[in-house]
Amino acid sequence: MNKNVERFIRYAKIDTQADENTGTTPSTEKQKNLGRLLVKELKELGLDDAYMDEYGIVYAHLDGEGEVIGLNAHMDTALEVKDEGVNPQIVNNWDGKDIKLNEQYSISLNQFPHMKAFIGKDLVVTDGNTLLGADDKAGIAIIMGVLDYIKEHPEFKHHPLAVAFTVDEEIGEGPKHFSLEKMGAEYAFTVDGGAIDEIAIENFNAQQLKVKIDGVAVHPGEGKNTLINALQVQSEFISMLPEKETPFYADEGYWHLTSANGTSEKTEFVAILRNFSREKLEALDKCIYEIRDNLLKKYPKAKINVEISEQYENMKPYVDKDPRPVKKAEAALRKVGLEPKFDRIKGGTDGATFSKMGLVTPNLGTGSGNHHGRFEYLVIQDFEKMIDIVLEIVKN
Ligand SMILES: [Zn+2]
Repeated sequence: MNKNVERFIRYAKIDTQADENTGTTPSTEKQKNLGRLLVKELKELGLDDAYMDEYGIVYAHLDGEGEVIGLNAHMDTALEVKDEGVNPQIVNNWDGKDIKLNEQYSISLNQFPHMKAFIGKDLVVTDGNTLLGADDKAGIAIIMGVLDYIKEHPEFKHHPLAVAFTVDEEIGEGPKHFSLEKMGAEYAFTVDGGAIDEIAIENFNAQQLKVKIDGVAVHPGEGKNTLINALQVQSEFISMLPEKETPFYADEGYWHLTSANGTSEKTEFVAILRNFSREKLEALDKCIYEIRDNLLKKYPKAKINVEISEQYENMKPYVDKDPRPVKKAEAALRKVGLEPKFDRIKGGTDGATFSKMGLVTPNLGTGSGNHHGRFEYLVIQDFEKMIDIVLEIVKN
């Protein structure tokens, strides 16, 4: 096994699962176990200033010529399946037949037809009991592979590099304590995607909607002209939301109910609001306020509290302002013989928030897929090619 794959597996075996309920930063202390290892390895690679700050974020810098390019990947893993006891399996020269992960689970082309593209390649998969954590330890291993190559090739001329390994990306808190000053880059890349020919420069604008309704509770027998059932008002509210703008029908943006509960006296429901277009998202907000106003006219004694909070923004307007990183990524992909595809992420990325903070950060692929679950995989050839692509990007 070559040292890049070995490095990925070494990181994948360290449990760094985030937790959305602790309220601490990092959300789980164990993320620092990987952070400490990375600081040690970064120093061994000659990035002498490598350190982990009080929030668990690892920063390191390497001198070079030209503008400072930032490289970022996240250390935490997703919450859907456990990250404890990761036991990666290697499938050499995959013949396309079912990959039996364990007695219960297999990876099959029937279920994942896109994997046809990987027949004949070597894969790293799980043993069916955990996720793999290629999201985003593949990204970390790619960045470390780049730094290793630079150390081994002193003749390779490159830009100065600023490296940051962040925590809690999976719970949307990657940028929370991220410091542009500590990073000190002019623009950056997150290495946190799937297919290696994709450059992600767009993502959803995201809001959360919370609606709390207070009805008027009396004994139903005395309810005539008095009782207002909060559950009923809630269900009217939800049914007045535009039906065709749900994930089932809509692709470009939607509202999606995530929870609804309560009693006849009090209810609360939560939905996520997503759209690539800011205007369309704001039009949906307007529609929500109109529904509230109409229901308040119908039920003047009810209380309806609508709260819309911002979660993240589409990075596109920011990326458009500084085309340097996207141009560099495009040129690098062509250099290794790939035609760049521009990807729109139907979700968020830390880079979207970094871009808004002033550090334009498009996202690059890692050669992994089926993230957040036990069917996750890493395509070894693509992962290694990604190291070449990032080397092309940082070359000077
Ligand atoms: Zn990720």
